[in-house]
Amino acid sequence: MNIKIRTRFAPSPTGYIHLGGIRTALFGWLLAKSLNGHFILRIEDTDQNREVKGSIEHIILSLNSLGLNYDEGPDLGGQYGPYIQSQRLSIYHQWAQKLVDQGLAYSDPYSEEEVEEFRLLAKSQKRPFLYREHRPQNLSGWDKGKALRFKSDPKKYTWKDLVMGELNSGEEAIDDFILIKADGFPTYNFAHIIDDHLMEISHIIRGQEFIASTPKYLNLYEALKINPPKMVTVPPILGPDGKKKLSKRDNAKDILEYLKEGYLKESLINFISSLGWNDGSTQEIYTIEQIIQKFKIEDIQKSPARFDEQKLIWINGHFIRNLKIDDLYEISSNYLPKEAKDFDSNYQKSVLRLIQDRLKYLSEIPSLSSYFFKRPNIDYTLIKNNKVLSIINVDTLIDLLNKTVQELNKSDFSLDDLTAKLNNLLILTNQKPVVLFGLIRIAITQSPFSPGLFDTIYVLRKTETIQRINDFIDYLKNN
Ligand code: GLU
Repeated sequence: MNIKIRTRFAPSPTGYIHLGGIRTALFGWLLAKSLNGHFILRIEDTDQNREVKGSIEHIILSLNSLGLNYDEGPDLGGQYGPYIQSQRLSIYHQWAQKLVDQGLAYSDPYSEEEVEEFRLLAKSQKRPFLYREHRPQNLSGWDKGKALRFKSDPKKYTWKDLVMGELNSGEEAIDDFILIKADGFPTYNFAHIIDDHLMEISHIIRGQEFIASTPKYLNLYEALKINPPKMVTVPPILGPDGKKKLSKRDNAKDILEYLKEGYLKESLINFISSLGWNDGSTQEIYTIEQIIQKFKIEDIQKSPARFDEQKLIWINGHFIRNLKIDDLYEISSNYLPKEAKDFDSNYQKSVLRLIQDRLKYLSEIPSLSSYFFKRPNIDYTLIKNNKVLSIINVDTLIDLLNKTVQELNKSDFSLDDLTAKLNNLLILTNQKPVVLFGLIRIAITQSPFSPGLFDTIYVLRKTETIQRINDFIDYLKNN
């Protein structure tokens, strides 16, 4: 039987979405895209105390920025809406009422303090706390100012998780959990079951923290006579040490932060998809299209994934290196130093072409390119800190630079001729490249590193190159 694939991302708006959340969203999106299904965004805001203002906008912006477009959602609508749980309270109340009418839900007669006492008692007796052991004899209907609990039917369960395989639980996993809180809001445990059913969700993709509660959900599905969706549990993401769960301390950034730093969305999707999915090959670089084509639930791994930012940096460098120069130019406009606007697009592109191979993310553009757009301040420490140049006397340095200017003046500044003239200069001066070219590099870039020296001079052009060398000669003479 062909089922209609409908997956959902169901975040709670309790802060910015962390990488694990994005990974869950991505896997749901990939499953839907790969099987021609629908991907739905549902906001689970039933815990009003934990809500953080602006989170919904942040979630939507994050998904949109990565291109994880959903087919239905709070801002798009759809035939199964509304897609914000706080706007669906009457729906949960109707379903809760059905359970009350069948004697399968009841008002909790105890105060929170009393329930806490039961919990402490169980703890002191070293046995697990089960609310149902305190279930009142005579179940009242639904007293709206009180929490409404599910009257569970303890039993053993065996179920299939499409990633974890067969899972089992005993009766102790079943309890009379709260369906609707005293404030009238449903719990996650209740609301998601109703919503997944009404929204015809085919696969629930979520983290391992929900496995322990799954028997309770199965018990409720049975009471409601609902067929559960397929369960897809994604593995945890560990920090770089591969031991502890990824946490704030591991410096995994907010996805919008990564985008701002100039990580491409292709790289982020490639990297995040690798956190728990592997098609069985050793391939590391995939386009988004390739991932969609290859993505299969069977290839989601059970074992934890490890967050390794170096891998992300490597992937990003790869995607940047492979960009056509016009595309790199287009996405670089916000990153080029402000002085770049005084230069034409051809010049800007030749600079980008030179640094393209070394760029790890776009926000490195200013530090790698500024001297192409602005004459750099002279920094004599570059000579002092240079092993070979620091031991040469200043007059010799000046002499070498003067000879360089003479050679460059003779050049027609084609790349071939520049190369020939500068190589010839090595012979004329009887110097090694580390000395001569190291010195010229510092004179024109005021930086210890640059792209190939000949290319750098070629892009800077004759007047500017010679001017910079002459300025440096003046500096050496006067200081
Ligand atoms: N609202 C839940 C959370 O943010 C989602 C769990 C689920 O995907 O069902 O943790």
